Amino acid sequence: MVICLVANACVLLSSAGHMNMNTKSSTIIFFWSTSHAVCVMCDSGEEETIDHLFDCAFAKECCATIHIDWDVSLPLLDRFTQARSAHTIPFFTEAALIAAWELWKVRNDMIFQRRAPSPSIWLSNFKQQCNLQSVRFKDNLRSSFCV
Ligand SMILES: [Zn+2]
Repeated sequence: MVICLVANACVLLSSAGHMNMNTKSSTIIFFWSTSHAVCVMCDSGEEETIDHLFDCAFAKECCATIHIDWDVSLPLLDRFTQARSAHTIPFFTEAALIAAWELWKVRNDMIFQRRAPSPSIWLSNFKQQCNLQSVRFKDNLRSSFCV
């Protein structure tokens, strides 16, 4: 399930010491499923695998709009480190977490609200979430975070 992927990403990033957001990973409920559902966003790949979060055609298209390109040949932590170092935006970790969170929400909208997903909807939601999160930032840092 994607919630596992988002939760695992939060735990991974927070344990790597790269997370500044006030995310309490201990409050995230982990779901575990032995079934392997096909991703509803791209109709391929196993939705439960962390690798599919980076391989998913829809997720890749969304990440491309914010110029994040994951090197899937690398192990997960190295993949994140490489993407962060290759990217010039400040607050890369926060942006990556918001990106994953908005993918989860677009997926849920597709399943539960029957809203057709699109990268443009995802990008709009991503920008809105960045603006919401930036309220917690100091004034001089806010403009560098908002897309
Ligand atoms: Zn997919």
